[in-house]
Amino acid sequence: MKNAVTFIVEPDTGKVTVEVSGVAKGTVRELENVIGKGTSVNCGQPVQAVFTQPSPKAVEDDAFSIWLYDLYHNSVVDGPGRRSVIQVAGCSLRCPGCYVPQTHKRENGSLVSISSIVKKIVASRPKHDGVTILGGEPFDQAASVAELVSRLKNLGIHITVYTGNTIDTLIGRKDKSIDYILTHIDLLIDGPFIRQLKKDAGEYRGSRNQRVISLSRNG
Ligand code: SF4
Repeated sequence: MKNAVTFIVEPDTGKVTVEVSGVAKGTVRELENVIGKGTSVNCGQPVQAVFTQPSPKAVEDDAFSIWLYDLYHNSVVDGPGRRSVIQVAGCSLRCPGCYVPQTHKRENGSLVSISSIVKKIVASRPKHDGVTILGGEPFDQAASVAELVSRLKNLGIHITVYTGNTIDTLIGRKDKSIDYILTHIDLLIDGPFIRQLKKDAGEYRGSRNQRVISLSRNG
């Protein structure tokens, strides 16, 4: 999307989300004069996170856990429709110019039980069209993400996953957890972020090399 302003109105709450892409700062200021000053949420990330900043948390109720940086709702830029987003902590790829360097270290997140994440997703279900798992790098904790994907898919939830790896690299690893993820999610956005290719990257992507790959068996 380029040079676009999109207004999303929530009919039940009256809240307005304004998604701005490629628009001059002066235009944004004029908009604020008309509709009032908003709160910047960057890449659709709402201010109110369910899991906030690091607070090492014991995993109480589940044998499966995941390094989580954040969990937030109402993103309209991380996959089709309105997404709940599970942002994992930890990324070994370290793309130069990455927008989210704060997610690179696992220790910046918390070890959280998968059941507690799924509970939050189920509770927010009327408000989203699907779940996006991004990072950090989800495939750095493939076994945990596979378990998460399995539980979400059993609930019939549409799943988008972002990775800084290419799909060919992931398939080449011949890892059971990775293969499970790739055969049970609906959409993969693959490839590293390349700063020089960020202009006109296209929907859902950070740079032009990244691909939106449909893996849904329903097309
Ligand atoms: S893979 Fe994603 S989180 Fe990791 S460095 Fe690249 S852009 Fe950042």
